[in-house]
Amino acid sequence: MKEQDYLDHLVGVFGHPAAENPGVVIQEAAFRDLGLRNWRFLTIDVDPGKLGDAILGLKAMKFRGINCTIPHKIEVLKYLDKLSPAATLIGAVNTVINDGGVLTGDNTDGKGFMIALEGAGVDPGGKRVVVLGAGGAARAICVELALAGARHLTIVNIPKDLALGQGLVDTLRQKTKVEVDYVAWDGKCRIPEGTHILVNATSIGLYPNVDDKPNIDYDSIGKGVYVQDVIPNPAYTPFLREAESRGLKWQSGMQMLINQAALNITMWTGLKPDKDVMRKAFEAAIS
Ligand code: NDP
Repeated sequence: MKEQDYLDHLVGVFGHPAAENPGVVIQEAAFRDLGLRNWRFLTIDVDPGKLGDAILGLKAMKFRGINCTIPHKIEVLKYLDKLSPAATLIGAVNTVINDGGVLTGDNTDGKGFMIALEGAGVDPGGKRVVVLGAGGAARAICVELALAGARHLTIVNIPKDLALGQGLVDTLRQKTKVEVDYVAWDGKCRIPEGTHILVNATSIGLYPNVDDKPNIDYDSIGKGVYVQDVIPNPAYTPFLREAESRGLKWQSGMQMLINQAALNITMWTGLKPDKDVMRKAFEAAIS
């Protein structure tokens, strides 16, 4: 007789908007490949102000965990029982793990970024890095770079948001050894001489604004600079085209996305998914 187990194991993402979040494609491809036939990844639109209700629902329905994306990454902190050291420093959570009603928050954005760097053969130890933007992804990336021993960070942010990023800069200066310059992005940004790694951690270039690119002086990017985008869709942005046309080594945000999704799956299921399966599912979805 066949096994009669129809109980769903639930994970997913809380966001607003949520419809364009590709997590379901990547995660369910991995679940199928791992033989986790009862695991479901739900894409859930949670209104701002309703996150507390959604968390109660998550506990009542015994979700194993949830991803949080814009605008819930910081708001969710007040509903959690524990935080990982990285999430504490970053001040934002993108992954929640539910252990029998005890909720732990972690942040895999920066870790996904670091694994992508490693995959490209780039060691940030002792390096000078320019990070464009100071939003959620930038915060996670800056903290992980600092913890990995980057020597110097130049964080570039638009003037109206300078105050928002100041907390990150203070944390980096107080809690890590990295040197930090925090500069206003006023007009065309020049990339300082001696930079080793340049990261676009803004949302510029993300679908549907696929022709947009960060306002920087691309001729100021030195030879040998490694260029990393966080944008996963499209995978080849105008920012990366500029890097390619100057013969620079670059990587899109797609691998970072796959890496962080793979980390989530391991946190929730204890299993290690096949990243190639996940990447192919994502590429098929956006092509
Ligand atoms: P946030 O909204 O927190 O941050 C985006 C930042 O970019 C904000 O500081 C924003 O400023 C700035 N920005 C937007 N447009 C411009 C502009 N024209 N000039 C200068 N700055 C600008 O979003 P996240 O940090 O969470 O996400 C950023 C991007 O990273 C998104 O595209 C997301 O898809 C991607 N991402 C990729 C991941 C991956 O795994 N590959 C993981 C997480 C995120 P303002 O607030 O004023 O608009």
